[in-house]
Amino acid sequence: MDESIGGSCVCGAVAFRMEGPFRGFQYCHCSRCRKRTGSSHVANIFVPVDQLRWERGEDKVRRFELPTAKYWSTAFCEDCGSAMPWLTRNGKVMVVAAGALDDDPGVRPGFSVHYDSRAPWYVHVSDLEMHGTIPPS
Ligand SMILES: [Zn+2]
Ligand SMILES: [Zn+2]
Repeated sequence: MDESIGGSCVCGAVAFRMEGPFRGFQYCHCSRCRKRTGSSHVANIFVPVDQLRWERGEDKVRRFELPTAKYWSTAFCEDCGSAMPWLTRNGKVMVVAAGALDDDPGVRPGFSVHYDSRAPWYVHVSDLEMHGTIPPS
């Protein structure tokens, strides 16, 4: 799997590799994804289940199912809480939070979903002042 894309949690206990072609890449602004990530949106890549394998720490990946959700789930490293890939309920696709990736997946998000549910404090990144590192004090 030389062309594979690696991902891992922040503590390093969990790592995985995935291969394209992917099924899509999108931002989701729904309130569940905002709470899951603590951010304005999640960036999800959809990967056919047989194109992702765990390198280590699969036993540390905890899954959370929201009883009221039809599709949505989440998974995370039980040690550090980082968002980890989770299997859709039809068992066919892994949903990968792109922030977990260590490599460039070579694809870019195509669109945002649930934009009507975006946080009231959300400001489009192109409207923000950009600093390469931290702003000068
Ligand atoms: Zn971890
Ligand atoms: Zn969402």
